[in-house]
This record gives sequence, C-alpha cells and structure tokens, in this order.
Amino acid sequence: MPGKLKADQAGSGKAVRFTTIKVRLDPTPEQAELFEKTFGCCRFIWNQMLSDQHRFYAETDAHFIPTPAKYKREAPFLKEVDNQALIQEYNKLSQAFRVFFKNPESFGCPRFKRKKDDSDSFTACNHVFESGPTIYTTRDGIRMTKAGIVRARFHRRPQAWWKLRRVTVEKTRTGKYFCSILYMVEEKRPEPVVPNAETTVGLKCSASHFYVADDGSMADLPGWMRRDQKKLAKAQRRLSRLRPGSRNYQEAIQAFRLLHEHIANQRKDFIHKESRRIANAWDAVCVRADDLTEPVPGVPQSNSKDAGFGMFRTCLRYKLERQGKALIAVDRYVPSTRTCSACGTVRDAVSYKENTWRCPECGAVHNREINAAKNIKAQGLAQYIEASERR
Ligand SMILES: [Zn+2]
Repeated sequence: MPGKLKADQAGSGKAVRFTTIKVRLDPTPEQAELFEKTFGCCRFIWNQMLSDQHRFYAETDAHFIPTPAKYKREAPFLKEVDNQALIQEYNKLSQAFRVFFKNPESFGCPRFKRKKDDSDSFTACNHVFESGPTIYTTRDGIRMTKAGIVRARFHRRPQAWWKLRRVTVEKTRTGKYFCSILYMVEEKRPEPVVPNAETTVGLKCSASHFYVADDGSMADLPGWMRRDQKKLAKAQRRLSRLRPGSRNYQEAIQAFRLLHEHIANQRKDFIHKESRRIANAWDAVCVRADDLTEPVPGVPQSNSKDAGFGMFRTCLRYKLERQGKALIAVDRYVPSTRTCSACGTVRDAVSYKENTWRCPECGAVHNREINAAKNIKAQGLAQYIEASERR
C-alpha cells in the first residue's frame, strides 16, 4: 500500500513515496520447502526473543531483546534460512514493544505466535553491494537471497528508477504464495491544487450504500458482490453442519476459503476503481475523521469493517496526494447528521430510522445521508481555509 508523501529536507521540490507491487509466486517444490522453513524459523525466533524479553524483564526490570545471532548455536537450523528474515523479526518485535510502551492501553503487549493463528510470512530487506543488489526482479521472477530466482506473475512493472527496499513473502490459507515488493520512489512533488466549493466533494460513508456524496450520487456495492456474500453465508452454514476433521469438512473449508479470498479481491478491485474515479474527478475530498469507527446500530461492527472504508480512505488519500490534492478529515465533534445544511440549526437527535427529515426552523427537507455529506463538505472546506490562513 503506497504511503504518504514525505518532504525531503533539502526542499528541492522532490518527494519520496513508497509503493508496493504484489505478485503471485510460483515457487518450485524446493523453494516452497525453503519458504515453509523460513516461516517456521521466523515464528520460532520471534517466540524465543519474546520469552527471553519476558524473563529479563521479570529478573531485572529492564527491557532487552537479544539479537537473532544468539540463538543460532542452539538452533543450527536457523542458518538454513535467509538471515535477513530473522533480523526483520527482531525489528518487528522491537517496533511492537515501542508501540506498546508508548500506548499500552491501545496496543497490547506483543504475544507469542502460533502456526494455527498467525499467517505464514517473512520479510527481507534488499542490500545493495558493489556486486549488485541482494534482491531484484527479473523478466518473470524475483531473485531472493537463499531461494534464488522464484517465478512470479507481474500484473504491473516497476519503473526503472524505483528502488527496491524489501519483500514480504506470504502464504495464504488457500495455499497460494504472494510477494509484496516495496519500492521507494523519488518524484517531483506535485503542485498543490487549491480546491473551491465547486471542485470539492463531501462523502458520508454509509453501511447501506458504500458512500453518499453531497451532490446525491452514491456508490452501492455491486450486485454480484452481494450475491457472493450470500454464497459465503451458505458455505458457512454448510461448514457448521459437517464434522470437523472429516474429509467433507476439509473440502468444504477449502471451498469456503477460496470464496472468501475471491470476495476480498473483488472488494479491493471495487475500492481501487471507486477511489480512482473520485480522486480524478475532484480537487479535494472531505470525509469524517471517525467515519470508519462509528458503530451503526443494527449493523455488526465487523460488517462495516469488512466493507473496507479504511482501505477506501487510504486509497483515496494517496491517489489524491499524488496529484497534489487533499483528503480533508473533518473533526469528529461536528454533528454532521443532526445539523441542517440549509440554515445550520442543530437538532437534538436524528434517528437512524429517519431517512428524510424536515428542519423545524427553515422547513428544508433533507435526506439524512446527503445532508450529512453536505455538512462534511462545508466543514471540510472551512477547515482547509483556516489551515491555509495559518500557514
Ligand atoms: Zn434548517
């Protein structure tokens, strides 16, 4: 997932961004075996370092994580896999503790990994030596440190000037291998685009529609996606009737995983296309800062998470930023649903059942979600102007 634009210190008008290309891998049986070993070693080293951290902490009150090198004498099988992958586990664990110490209420203490619960993956950084980089792509593959060239299917190609920083190899529950290749891209910073009321859109994320815009347009999840959801529910019911461990169960669970994966891919595709359309059509997009976490009565939390609002926003942000445009997150304390967008009267409450309501002051009749989108847009623009005046 491409990240935020970062300004460089020199102020040369260049910006650094990160972008990821995800490819399907077709490893040979030997390479697949090496991947399995690497997944296992990464879990092993994580758990070893974590248990030592716990012990040191209990004995000395000090936080300390030993480096992977310490374990190689007692566990020589660690030498069979890419050392970079083990170093990355150390970095990930250190980072997990940094986050935890900073904010223990929101982030739990790093926990032990189990094959059953944790995904199979490892990460390795690219090192560029005089003799060349340790990781690079070829016409139809990726060269990795221990595995050699692994066949890969590219649906898009990196540009020649992109710098390969690291790769993450993962195996899905359906047994497919993927590799996410992270690139650092240095580019000329885009000229900032100044939005106005005509070129700005306000979006209200919604559970019934994917989003509703202030001009009344909305995106519904495509019909086939709803049909697939029903299929998924059916597959789930079938699964619940079968005896765990039986052959029918194994077959049903594989079918269920494939369907789940298929739906997730379709959703991603939908989100990419919608965010692209909006980012190209408008100069600024206003959304509510808390639109993703707001619980919708009657809709289970997992459902709204599933809808992919978080991913939608991330996609929107980078697609806008790359064009010098802004995603404006409106503060949560603005009551966008209860405020009349015509006269500004704030009502005590608007029930989720009220799809339309009439303003008691000015008599304007509002669609609940379009009205909210209008308020989000107005507030977003006001915030933008305020911020640019302060600059
Ligand atoms: Zn009114």
